[in-house]
Amino acid sequence: MGDDKKPTVRQAHREMPKTEEEWKKALTPEQYKILREKGTETPFSGKFLYEKGEGVYGCAACGNPLFPSDAKFESGTGWPSFDKALLGAVELRPDRSGGMERTEVICARCGSHLGHVFDDGPMPTGKRYCLNSACLELEKKK
Ligand SMILES: [Zn+2]
Repeated sequence: MGDDKKPTVRQAHREMPKTEEEWKKALTPEQYKILREKGTETPFSGKFLYEKGEGVYGCAACGNPLFPSDAKFESGTGWPSFDKALLGAVELRPDRSGGMERTEVICARCGSHLGHVFDDGPMPTGKRYCLNSACLELEKKK
């Protein structure tokens, strides 16, 4: 294991809740349902679906920088979609809930649910990170 395994992104210094009670207070009810209980927002409802601003999308729960805005693309699915994540920013887990074989995307810092990743994205990565707007915040480039 060399240094190249380390995240290249800066870690945000936001205070992180330690218990689910604290998470509940820190997040809106919709965010809590999605981030902490692996919910999914209604398609075409999220605030970042058509967002074109430049910057970095971070985790709405802990501020961890996750996705560069230039990785965002229009997938037509109704959820904000990205073809790559920042190095070390997210973790992937097999998810067999709901009778489907999917890969869950979670924040590598706080473990909150962000969405799922699929192998039908655009080249060169071929990945489609299908995320909930409620799990994201955009830090715009100044
Ligand atoms: Zn997080």
